[in-house]
Amino acid sequence: LERQLQQALKMEALGTLAGGIAHDLNNALVPVLGLTECVMENLPAGGAERADLELVIDGATRARDLVRQILAFSRKEAPEREPVDIAKVVDMGWELLLRALPFGVRMERRCAAGALVLADHSQIDQVIVNLVTNAVQAIGDGPGTVTVSVTAQRDTAPGKARLTVEDTGPGMDETTRSRVFEPFFTTKPVGEGTGLGLAVVHGIVTSHGGSIECRNRPGGGTVFDVFLPLFETAVAEPIPCDFI
Ligand code: ADP
Repeated sequence: LERQLQQALKMEALGTLAGGIAHDLNNALVPVLGLTECVMENLPAGGAERADLELVIDGATRARDLVRQILAFSRKEAPEREPVDIAKVVDMGWELLLRALPFGVRMERRCAAGALVLADHSQIDQVIVNLVTNAVQAIGDGPGTVTVSVTAQRDTAPGKARLTVEDTGPGMDETTRSRVFEPFFTTKPVGEGTGLGLAVVHGIVTSHGGSIECRNRPGGGTVFDVFLPLFETAVAEPIPCDFI
């Protein structure tokens, strides 16, 4: 518990600091991206200047994506919660995930309907995207498979929705596994990893009253299990209204 508390305090402090920086950086990047794209439109195709400007845009886009991750990590506003079917969130984002898939990596899904949770749709989407992105990156050039599954477990009280993302990548050593949810912990090269993906996932899951576990997959690879409390709508008794 003490470790969890320490982690929460660390996240809070880092979130405030990083959020402030990211906010200003984001404002500074808006005109950079907007104007370079404008200039680009007026340049003749195939010229050297155009190639240079493309590099500028690539760099600024990467910086913007990083800033967005940091903003997501530090976001404080109250989430909008409603009953959300996790299988539907997977379905809705599936095409986009497939499109970003490198050659040699396959994706499979096994999603049972009925895993209903009280949650913010876009936050659940972010959990899926971050876990799948890591799984795909772990597989690298492949070949390999990422499997996303959703089940509703009603044998516990309260019942739990379970979202599992597993990959056939190299797996993690003990040290990495013990640190994956730490903000800014990354084993990826500078410029490629922010170390925020799983900290964001951890924050979202715990703020929804859930938990997340990771383990090595038998046969190689990693498995992330997310558990969220099931939202079971109690069947309301019809209210007698014999005075109407
Ligand atoms: P980032 O992806 O930017 O490094 P994350 O917080 O998403 O940040 O992940 C932290 C670290 O956890 C990664 O750098 C990697 O070492 C490890 N990791 C996460 N997911 C996996 C996975 N599916 N397989 C192996 N290692 C992983």
